[in-house]
Amino acid sequence: MLELTDIHKSYENQPLLTGISFTVAEGESVCLLGPSGSGKSTLLRLVAGLEEPERGEVRWEGEDMAPIPAHRRNFGLVFQDYALFPHLDVTGNVAFGLKMQNLPADEIRQRVATMLEKVNLAGFENRRVTDLSGGEQQRVALARALATGPRLLMFDEPLGALDRSLKDNLLAELRRILHETGVPAIYVTHDQEEAFAIADRILLLHEGRIVQEGAPAEVYAHPASAWVAQFLGVGNIITGVVRAGNVETSVGNFRLSCAHAHRDGEKVNLMVSRHQVREAPDGELRGVVADVVFQQDGFKVTLSNGLVFHLPKAPKSGEEIRFHVPSAAVQCLP
Ligand code: ADP
Repeated sequence: MLELTDIHKSYENQPLLTGISFTVAEGESVCLLGPSGSGKSTLLRLVAGLEEPERGEVRWEGEDMAPIPAHRRNFGLVFQDYALFPHLDVTGNVAFGLKMQNLPADEIRQRVATMLEKVNLAGFENRRVTDLSGGEQQRVALARALATGPRLLMFDEPLGALDRSLKDNLLAELRRILHETGVPAIYVTHDQEEAFAIADRILLLHEGRIVQEGAPAEVYAHPASAWVAQFLGVGNIITGVVRAGNVETSVGNFRLSCAHAHRDGEKVNLMVSRHQVREAPDGELRGVVADVVFQQDGFKVTLSNGLVFHLPKAPKSGEEIRFHVPSAAVQCLP
């Protein structure tokens, strides 16, 4: 239904987006995930019609959106800073778009009540928005965006200003609301936990391109590159050199068992799982324990060489430790 094809955009001769293509299907929540400055908000603004691409197309059900101004696209936007109207109460904010559509007063009242119920704000009708907490204000913004029945919802770091526990609650609600309403959504964030919690599909943006896309579990299990693995904090990335079927690294030598063909002397990135290693006195990977943190299911152990492992028992700080790394625990990444 939404289709972006080969989108290019630059600012001050600096290319920002260089050939972005993706689709959003009916009822699907797609998350654009990438570091700050990777062009996520710009992509949203292009879809919304607040910016124009230099090249490429935005289509909705086949229709080219280029000649359609932002206010006629019927796409809803929710921003980090809520962008509520401070002089209007909750009802006034949620009803705003409906009044612009000249709907009868009765219908507006009915729709506002339904929306407030959906976002768990029934009873807040006459509250001033400036008196509400951040989480409540964001619910009002969501109710306002949903009220006009948009055909697509876009979220730009909507939970960025909220603390962790509030974020988790709102994420769960947002997921419920998106599934209930079936409105397709594009959700922009630099926070991978948020992305993993909300997305049916993740698009990872880096240096102007989508470097990987897939379901959260798929992206997590098979990062497409060392950059992706590092950005997502999946496993340990160790760089080494191929010598006679082994990879020599500063933390040990590993057998190379991967589907790529490698030449002797070639540099490779290995991703070593944080979970699948086993302590062994003759293990091939070694390091000195720098930090041990208790977690619900064991201990997170950081070594002085920066590698991180999850272990069932706590080693001592300062102790040298060795691990056996089974071949299933190592992936070779571009
Ligand atoms: P993200 O949402 O991933 O943080 P943005 O899309 O906000 O990234 O912006 C990426 C970069 O593009 C910014 O760091 C800025 O340098 C540039 N940029 C964005 N909008 C403009 C603009 N209107 N004029 C000039 N440069 C801009």
